[in-house]
Amino acid sequence: MLQQTQVQTVIPYFNKFIDKYPNLKSLSRAKEKDVMKIWEGLGYYRRARFLLASAKRLEKNNFKLPRDFKELKKLPGVGDYTANVLLALIYNNPTIAFDGNVKRIFSRILNKNEDLLNQDKIKNDNQRTFFSHNRNSDFVEALMEFGALICRPKPLCENCPIKKNCLFKNSKTVSITKAKTKKTTKKLDIFCYITKRKQIGLTKKNNLGFLKDFLIPKIRIREKNSNKNWFLLKNYSNSISNKKLDINLYYKFSKTIPKNFEWHSIGSNKEIIPSFTKKIISHIENLY
Ligand code: SF4
Repeated sequence: MLQQTQVQTVIPYFNKFIDKYPNLKSLSRAKEKDVMKIWEGLGYYRRARFLLASAKRLEKNNFKLPRDFKELKKLPGVGDYTANVLLALIYNNPTIAFDGNVKRIFSRILNKNEDLLNQDKIKNDNQRTFFSHNRNSDFVEALMEFGALICRPKPLCENCPIKKNCLFKNSKTVSITKAKTKKTTKKLDIFCYITKRKQIGLTKKNNLGFLKDFLIPKIRIREKNSNKNWFLLKNYSNSISNKKLDINLYYKFSKTIPKNFEWHSIGSNKEIIPSFTKKIISHIENLY
């Protein structure tokens, strides 16, 4: 849950989730729609799907997480970072989980650009310093905390316990620039079929590459002349995952909808609706 989401936002979701699914076994028996319901509002729904899929897959391993890095990475949604975190936090393995915060710390200590860091070399060169205390789990957590509290994007160097060893702090020439992750902008046209009885046509089928299996209106990557017979309601911006969306929202009153669409009452939906669609519906409601 903490990938891409701040701790304060996560806490109530985490508590609700753990109350309902206190272990992998109970999660593995859950229905996807119930897991999604609990996740609703937290965004990045792939994380919930991956968790559920991993729990199901671990059944044949008696719900024990593999101890092997490569085996762990076979679980849905588990990449290098998550595998390293799991190995350190659960099995106290000597490793480092390089996320954005930890890369920033090492980039500053070594005064080197993040994209020039050699993670294996950092681990190998510092085996004794990092891993001789047998508190590998604490070490991984401490690095995360250090990045969040001291070596923050705006670092608190004066309070830093390792400032004497930090090349960034002590060098006259600062050679690091942060590798930026750029948000890409996508231009979308969204078409809402609506009725006088306050219904909207939604579908779970799309080939957008995001919002898979969620109820959304008809959406197309913007093309010229794709909006004939539709009324433009408004243009607005929205963000989803790492995409910035420039949206033209169209509507038309209609008695029919395409195949794969269903009518849903505006304002009283029982199914899970992503906040992306909720925003669309709130604009459409202004028409009534
Ligand atoms: S001295 Fe500053 S830049 Fe260096 S590790 Fe400490 S907080 Fe980060």
